[in-house]
Amino acid sequence: MNCPFCDIDEEKTRIVQEGKTYYVALSNPRLVPGHLLIIPKRHMEKASELSEEERREIFDAVIKMQETVLAKFSTGCDIRSNYRPFLKPGWVKVNHLHFHLQPRELEDELYQQSQKFEKELWKELPEEEREKFTQLFS
Ligand SMILES: [Zn+2]
Repeated sequence: MNCPFCDIDEEKTRIVQEGKTYYVALSNPRLVPGHLLIIPKRHMEKASELSEEERREIFDAVIKMQETVLAKFSTGCDIRSNYRPFLKPGWVKVNHLHFHLQPRELEDELYQQSQKFEKELWKELPEEEREKFTQLFS
């Protein structure tokens, strides 16, 4: 298996914190300055594969790191995790579960880049779609 998050020696210089079940590392590539990744030590693809202990420790770490970001240098912070098995692993796609923490400011670089598409992306919620997903998720 060739996984950059399992082969942690390669990533060592970017690790800023370590817990029993996870690493916190600077993302490289990054979308904004201070972009962090919280990475389970055990290889898995989806959050549903986390053990109870991993869920508790990793989610606590996500919350603590967001509070650290907000206390030390940023007024906002996005939390995100992607599961896209239809993409092949590559330079920006890693097949190992991780959570992104992205410090955000009012008109930061990411906002300015995404602003070009924002009006095109946002759409009203059609009634049919609302009903479909309300049934699916309830
Ligand atoms: Zn891995």
